[in-house]
Amino acid sequence: MTKDRLVRRTLSTLFVAGFVYKALVAFSIAAGTTEAERFWQAPGNWYKGNLHTHTTNSDGDLAPEVMIARYQEAGYDFLALSDHNRLTRAKAISAKPFLLIDGEEITAGHSEIGGEIHFVAFNLVERIDPRAYGGPQEILDAVRAQGGEVVVSHPYWSGLTVNELLRLDGFLGIEIYNASCALSIGKGHSLAQWDDLLVRGRRVMGFAHDDSHGHFNEHRPTDVACAFLMVKAATLTEEAIFGALRKGEFYACSGPGGGPKILDFWVADGQAHVRTSAAKTITIAADGGRGYGERFTAPKGSLLTEAHHKLRGREKYVRLEVIDAEGRTAWANPIFLTP
Ligand SMILES: [Zn+2]
Ligand SMILES: [Zn+2]
Repeated sequence: MTKDRLVRRTLSTLFVAGFVYKALVAFSIAAGTTEAERFWQAPGNWYKGNLHTHTTNSDGDLAPEVMIARYQEAGYDFLALSDHNRLTRAKAISAKPFLLIDGEEITAGHSEIGGEIHFVAFNLVERIDPRAYGGPQEILDAVRAQGGEVVVSHPYWSGLTVNELLRLDGFLGIEIYNASCALSIGKGHSLAQWDDLLVRGRRVMGFAHDDSHGHFNEHRPTDVACAFLMVKAATLTEEAIFGALRKGEFYACSGPGGGPKILDFWVADGQAHVRTSAAKTITIAADGGRGYGERFTAPKGSLLTEAHHKLRGREKYVRLEVIDAEGRTAWANPIFLTP
Protein backbone atom coordinates (compact mmCIF):
# COMPACT_ATOMS: atom_id res chain seq x y z
CA MET A 1 0.00 0.00 0.00
CA THR A 2 1.35 3.43 -0.93
CA LYS A 3 1.82 6.02 1.75
CA ASP A 4 -0.99 8.14 0.21
CA ARG A 5 -3.45 5.24 0.16
CA LEU A 6 -2.54 4.34 3.73
CA VAL A 7 -3.20 7.91 4.86
CA ARG A 8 -6.52 8.07 2.95
CA ARG A 9 -7.65 4.71 4.37
CA THR A 10 -6.67 5.72 7.92
CA LEU A 11 -8.53 9.02 7.58
CA SER A 12 -11.68 7.33 6.21
CA THR A 13 -11.57 4.74 9.03
CA LEU A 14 -11.30 7.53 11.58
CA PHE A 15 -14.16 9.40 9.90
CA VAL A 16 -16.44 6.33 9.99
CA ALA A 17 -15.45 5.55 13.60
CA GLY A 18 -16.21 9.15 14.56
CA PHE A 19 -19.59 9.00 12.85
CA VAL A 20 -20.52 5.72 14.57
CA TYR A 21 -19.46 7.15 17.95
CA LYS A 22 -21.50 10.33 17.42
CA ALA A 23 -24.52 8.27 16.34
CA LEU A 24 -24.22 6.11 19.47
CA VAL A 25 -23.97 9.19 21.69
CA ALA A 26 -26.94 10.82 19.93
CA PHE A 27 -28.91 7.60 20.36
CA SER A 28 -28.15 7.36 24.08
CA ILE A 29 -29.26 10.97 24.64
CA ALA A 30 -32.30 10.71 22.38
CA ALA A 31 -33.30 7.63 24.39
CA GLY A 32 -33.56 9.92 27.44
CA THR A 33 -35.92 8.96 30.25
CA THR A 34 -38.51 6.39 29.33
CA GLU A 35 -42.08 6.85 30.53
CA ALA A 36 -41.60 3.87 32.84
CA GLU A 37 -38.61 5.58 34.47
CA ARG A 38 -40.40 8.88 34.88
CA PHE A 39 -42.04 7.97 38.15
CA TRP A 40 -42.64 11.58 39.15
CA GLN A 41 -45.79 11.75 37.02
CA ALA A 42 -46.92 8.15 37.56
CA PRO A 43 -49.93 7.35 39.79
CA GLY A 44 -49.15 6.91 43.48
CA ASN A 45 -48.68 8.83 46.70
CA TRP A 46 -45.75 10.62 48.29
CA TYR A 47 -44.75 9.33 51.72
CA LYS A 48 -42.33 11.09 54.06
CA GLY A 49 -40.02 9.02 56.24
CA ASN A 50 -36.75 8.56 58.08
CA LEU A 51 -34.87 5.27 58.19
CA HIS A 52 -32.15 5.92 60.79
CA THR A 53 -33.12 6.54 64.42
CA HIS A 54 -31.62 5.76 67.83
CA THR A 55 -33.47 5.47 71.12
CA THR A 56 -32.67 4.61 74.72
CA ASN A 57 -32.25 1.04 73.38
CA SER A 58 -28.74 2.22 72.37
CA ASP A 59 -27.18 5.70 72.66
CA GLY A 60 -30.30 7.82 72.02
CA ASP A 61 -31.78 10.14 74.65
CA LEU A 62 -35.47 9.42 73.96
CA ALA A 63 -37.48 6.27 74.65
CA PRO A 64 -38.76 4.46 71.52
CA GLU A 65 -42.38 5.52 72.10
CA VAL A 66 -41.35 9.18 72.62
CA MET A 67 -39.22 9.17 69.46
CA ILE A 68 -42.06 7.66 67.43
CA ALA A 69 -44.49 10.30 68.73
CA ARG A 70 -42.08 13.10 67.76
CA TYR A 71 -42.01 11.89 64.14
CA GLN A 72 -45.77 11.40 64.04
CA GLU A 73 -46.27 14.98 65.28
CA ALA A 74 -43.79 16.24 62.64
CA GLY A 75 -45.92 14.78 59.82
CA TYR A 76 -43.78 11.78 58.89
CA ASP A 77 -45.51 8.70 57.45
CA PHE A 78 -42.88 6.07 58.22
CA LEU A 79 -39.94 5.57 60.55
CA ALA A 80 -37.31 2.90 61.13
CA LEU A 81 -35.78 2.45 64.57
CA SER A 82 -32.19 1.38 63.99
CA ASP A 83 -30.38 1.10 67.29
CA HIS A 84 -26.72 0.04 67.40
CA ASN A 85 -26.25 -3.71 66.97
CA ARG A 86 -29.78 -4.39 68.13
CA LEU A 87 -32.86 -5.26 66.09
CA THR A 88 -35.77 -3.20 67.43
CA ARG A 89 -39.20 -4.69 66.81
CA ALA A 90 -40.73 -1.28 66.19
CA LYS A 91 -44.14 -2.51 65.08
CA ALA A 92 -44.89 -3.72 68.58
CA ILE A 93 -44.48 -0.20 70.03
CA SER A 94 -47.20 1.91 68.38
CA ALA A 95 -50.57 0.99 66.97
CA LYS A 96 -51.24 4.37 65.28
CA PRO A 97 -51.60 4.46 61.46
CA PHE A 98 -47.93 5.02 60.90
CA LEU A 99 -45.52 2.64 59.20
CA LEU A 100 -42.87 1.42 61.61
CA ILE A 101 -39.94 -0.48 60.16
CA ASP A 102 -37.66 -2.79 62.14
CA GLY A 103 -34.04 -1.78 61.76
CA GLU A 104 -30.56 -2.27 63.13
CA GLU A 105 -27.44 -0.17 62.69
CA ILE A 106 -24.60 -2.64 62.49
CA THR A 107 -20.99 -1.81 63.38
CA ALA A 108 -19.37 -3.55 60.44
CA GLY A 109 -15.66 -2.88 60.92
CA HIS A 110 -13.23 0.00 60.50
CA SER A 111 -12.23 2.28 57.67
CA GLU A 112 -8.54 2.61 56.71
CA ILE A 113 -8.18 5.66 58.97
CA GLY A 114 -9.79 3.86 61.91
CA GLY A 115 -13.35 5.22 61.71
CA GLU A 116 -16.21 2.84 62.40
CA ILE A 117 -18.07 1.50 59.38
CA HIS A 118 -21.82 1.43 60.06
CA PHE A 119 -24.63 -0.11 58.02
CA VAL A 120 -28.31 0.60 58.57
CA ALA A 121 -30.12 -2.64 57.80
CA PHE A 122 -33.83 -3.33 57.24
CA ASN A 123 -36.14 -6.28 56.63
CA LEU A 124 -34.10 -8.47 58.93
CA VAL A 125 -35.60 -11.69 60.22
CA GLU A 126 -33.02 -11.91 63.00
CA ARG A 127 -30.55 -9.56 64.61
CA ILE A 128 -27.09 -9.49 63.02
CA ASP A 129 -24.36 -9.84 65.64
CA PRO A 130 -21.27 -8.32 63.96
CA ARG A 131 -18.94 -10.37 66.16
CA ALA A 132 -20.10 -13.48 64.32
CA TYR A 133 -18.74 -12.26 60.97
CA GLY A 134 -15.35 -11.63 59.44
CA GLY A 135 -15.89 -8.12 58.07
CA PRO A 136 -18.18 -5.69 56.27
CA GLN A 137 -18.76 -7.80 53.13
CA GLU A 138 -19.66 -10.88 55.18
CA ILE A 139 -22.13 -8.77 57.18
CA LEU A 140 -23.63 -7.35 53.99
CA ASP A 141 -24.01 -10.87 52.60
CA ALA A 142 -25.66 -12.02 55.85
CA VAL A 143 -28.23 -9.18 55.70
CA ARG A 144 -28.97 -9.96 52.06
CA ALA A 145 -29.29 -13.67 52.86
CA GLN A 146 -32.14 -12.74 55.24
CA GLY A 147 -33.83 -10.78 52.43
CA GLY A 148 -32.69 -7.51 53.99
CA GLU A 149 -31.30 -4.29 52.60
CA VAL A 150 -28.28 -2.21 53.58
CA VAL A 151 -27.65 1.51 53.34
CA VAL A 152 -24.08 2.50 54.19
CA SER A 153 -24.30 5.05 57.02
CA HIS A 154 -22.46 8.41 56.93
CA PRO A 155 -19.39 7.59 54.74
CA TYR A 156 -17.84 11.02 55.46
CA TRP A 157 -18.19 10.60 59.24
CA SER A 158 -16.62 7.12 58.96
CA GLY A 159 -13.77 8.42 56.79
CA LEU A 160 -14.71 5.92 54.07
CA THR A 161 -13.11 6.54 50.68
CA VAL A 162 -14.54 5.46 47.36
CA ASN A 163 -11.93 2.68 47.10
CA GLU A 164 -13.18 1.17 50.35
CA LEU A 165 -16.81 1.48 49.22
CA LEU A 166 -15.94 -0.13 45.87
CA ARG A 167 -14.74 -3.24 47.74
CA LEU A 168 -18.27 -3.70 49.11
CA ASP A 169 -20.99 -5.21 47.01
CA GLY A 170 -24.75 -5.47 47.49
CA PHE A 171 -25.71 -2.26 49.30
CA LEU A 172 -28.74 -0.33 48.15
CA GLY A 173 -27.21 3.09 48.63
CA ILE A 174 -25.31 5.43 50.89
CA GLU A 175 -26.33 8.22 53.21
CA ILE A 176 -25.53 11.28 51.11
CA TYR A 177 -26.79 13.39 54.03
CA ASN A 178 -26.88 12.53 57.72
CA ALA A 179 -28.44 15.23 59.93
CA SER A 180 -26.80 14.08 63.17
CA CYS A 181 -23.30 14.05 61.61
CA ALA A 182 -23.96 17.50 60.09
CA LEU A 183 -25.28 19.10 63.30
CA SER A 184 -22.70 17.54 65.63
CA ILE A 185 -19.38 17.79 63.73
CA GLY A 186 -20.22 19.29 60.31
CA LYS A 187 -19.63 16.05 58.37
CA GLY A 188 -23.14 15.40 57.10
CA HIS A 189 -22.60 15.27 53.33
CA SER A 190 -21.18 12.31 51.40
CA LEU A 191 -21.81 13.64 47.91
CA ALA A 192 -18.27 13.20 46.59
CA GLN A 193 -18.36 9.53 47.60
CA TRP A 194 -21.70 9.18 45.79
CA ASP A 195 -20.46 10.75 42.55
CA ASP A 196 -17.24 8.71 42.74
CA LEU A 197 -19.32 5.51 42.95
CA LEU A 198 -21.74 6.56 40.20
CA VAL A 199 -19.03 7.53 37.71
CA ARG A 200 -17.48 4.10 38.22
CA GLY A 201 -20.75 2.44 37.26
CA ARG A 202 -22.12 1.64 40.73
CA ARG A 203 -25.86 2.34 40.56
CA VAL A 204 -26.49 3.19 44.20
CA MET A 205 -29.18 5.46 45.61
CA GLY A 206 -28.76 8.57 47.75
CA PHE A 207 -30.44 8.62 51.19
CA ALA A 208 -30.95 11.49 53.66
CA HIS A 209 -31.42 10.25 57.22
CA ASP A 210 -31.61 11.91 60.60
CA ASP A 211 -29.58 9.35 62.55
CA SER A 212 -31.51 11.01 65.36
CA HIS A 213 -30.31 10.53 68.92
CA GLY A 214 -32.37 13.31 70.47
CA HIS A 215 -29.12 15.13 71.26
CA PHE A 216 -29.07 18.92 71.38
CA ASN A 217 -27.55 21.77 73.35
CA GLU A 218 -27.40 25.55 73.11
CA HIS A 219 -24.99 25.36 70.14
CA ARG A 220 -26.65 22.44 68.44
CA PRO A 221 -30.28 22.13 67.29
CA THR A 222 -32.09 18.84 67.71
CA ASP A 223 -31.46 16.07 65.20
CA VAL A 224 -35.07 14.79 65.48
CA ALA A 225 -37.33 15.31 62.42
CA CYS A 226 -34.78 17.13 60.23
CA ALA A 227 -33.87 15.03 57.19
CA PHE A 228 -36.31 12.85 55.29
CA LEU A 229 -37.05 10.80 52.21
CA MET A 230 -40.04 11.47 49.96
CA VAL A 231 -41.01 8.11 48.49
CA LYS A 232 -43.49 7.63 45.63
CA ALA A 233 -45.43 4.44 46.28
CA ALA A 234 -48.88 2.99 45.76
CA THR A 235 -49.51 2.27 49.44
CA LEU A 236 -47.91 2.86 52.82
CA THR A 237 -46.60 -0.66 53.31
CA GLU A 238 -43.07 -1.88 53.87
CA GLU A 239 -43.24 -3.84 50.63
CA ALA A 240 -44.30 -0.80 48.56
CA ILE A 241 -41.83 1.58 50.24
CA PHE A 242 -38.85 -0.76 49.75
CA GLY A 243 -39.99 -1.58 46.21
CA ALA A 244 -39.79 2.15 45.44
CA LEU A 245 -36.45 2.57 47.27
CA ARG A 246 -34.90 -0.23 45.21
CA LYS A 247 -36.02 1.49 41.99
CA GLY A 248 -34.80 4.92 43.12
CA GLU A 249 -38.35 6.29 43.08
CA PHE A 250 -37.76 8.78 45.84
CA TYR A 251 -35.84 11.92 46.67
CA ALA A 252 -33.87 12.84 49.75
CA CYS A 253 -34.05 16.12 51.68
CA SER A 254 -31.95 17.69 54.42
CA GLY A 255 -34.83 19.62 56.06
CA PRO A 256 -35.47 20.68 58.75
CA GLY A 257 -39.21 21.17 58.72
CA GLY A 258 -39.62 20.75 54.99
CA GLY A 259 -37.66 21.74 51.94
CA PRO A 260 -37.81 22.10 48.19
CA LYS A 261 -40.24 19.81 46.42
CA ILE A 262 -38.94 18.14 43.30
CA LEU A 263 -41.89 17.93 40.90
CA ASP A 264 -40.28 16.37 37.84
CA PHE A 265 -36.85 15.43 36.51
CA TRP A 266 -36.35 13.89 33.10
CA VAL A 267 -34.08 13.71 30.05
CA ALA A 268 -35.40 14.35 26.55
CA ASP A 269 -34.14 15.95 23.33
CA GLY A 270 -30.55 16.03 24.58
CA GLN A 271 -31.44 18.00 27.70
CA ALA A 272 -32.03 17.37 31.39
CA HIS A 273 -35.24 19.08 32.52
CA VAL A 274 -36.31 19.97 36.06
CA ARG A 275 -39.46 21.35 37.66
CA THR A 276 -39.43 22.21 41.35
CA SER A 277 -41.07 24.34 44.00
CA ALA A 278 -39.41 27.75 44.41
CA ALA A 279 -35.64 27.30 44.63
CA LYS A 280 -32.56 29.44 45.09
CA THR A 281 -30.36 27.09 43.08
CA ILE A 282 -30.91 24.09 40.83
CA THR A 283 -27.88 21.93 40.06
CA ILE A 284 -27.67 19.24 37.42
CA ALA A 285 -24.67 17.21 38.55
CA ALA A 286 -22.98 14.65 36.30
CA ASP A 287 -19.76 12.63 35.93
CA GLY A 288 -16.80 14.17 37.71
CA GLY A 289 -13.47 15.07 36.18
CA ARG A 290 -14.81 16.55 32.96
CA GLY A 291 -16.58 19.75 33.91
CA TYR A 292 -19.99 18.24 33.12
CA GLY A 293 -23.19 19.52 34.73
CA GLU A 294 -24.49 23.00 35.44
CA ARG A 295 -25.72 25.09 38.37
CA PHE A 296 -28.53 27.60 37.91
CA THR A 297 -28.74 30.39 40.52
CA ALA A 298 -31.77 32.65 40.82
CA PRO A 299 -30.99 36.36 40.33
CA LYS A 300 -31.24 38.40 43.57
CA GLY A 301 -34.86 38.88 44.64
CA SER A 302 -36.23 36.00 42.55
CA LEU A 303 -36.52 32.21 42.72
CA LEU A 304 -36.38 29.42 40.15
CA THR A 305 -39.01 26.77 39.46
CA GLU A 306 -37.45 25.07 36.44
CA ALA A 307 -34.16 24.48 34.66
CA HIS A 308 -33.11 22.98 31.32
CA HIS A 309 -29.54 21.83 30.83
CA LYS A 310 -28.08 20.87 27.46
CA LEU A 311 -26.14 17.63 27.82
CA ARG A 312 -22.71 17.18 26.25
CA GLY A 313 -23.71 13.69 25.15
CA ARG A 314 -21.06 11.71 26.99
CA GLU A 315 -22.48 11.82 30.53
CA LYS A 316 -22.95 8.47 32.21
CA TYR A 317 -25.60 9.90 34.51
CA VAL A 318 -27.21 13.10 35.69
CA ARG A 319 -28.54 13.77 39.15
CA LEU A 320 -30.33 16.74 40.67
CA GLU A 321 -29.75 18.98 43.67
CA VAL A 322 -32.23 21.74 44.59
CA ILE A 323 -31.67 24.31 47.36
CA ASP A 324 -34.49 26.52 48.65
CA ALA A 325 -34.29 30.07 50.05
CA GLU A 326 -33.69 28.67 53.56
CA GLY A 327 -30.74 26.55 52.43
CA ARG A 328 -32.60 23.24 52.65
CA THR A 329 -31.50 20.79 49.97
CA ALA A 330 -33.33 18.06 48.04
CA TRP A 331 -31.47 15.45 45.99
CA ALA A 332 -33.02 13.29 43.27
CA ASN A 333 -31.54 9.94 42.35
CA PRO A 334 -29.54 9.68 39.12
CA ILE A 335 -30.94 9.15 35.66
CA PHE A 336 -28.50 6.75 34.02
CA LEU A 337 -27.68 7.59 30.41
CA THR A 338 -25.74 4.49 29.44
CA PRO A 339 -27.21 0.99 29.11
ZN1 LIG B 1 -23.67 5.35 62.64
ZN1 LIG C 1 -26.76 5.90 63.77
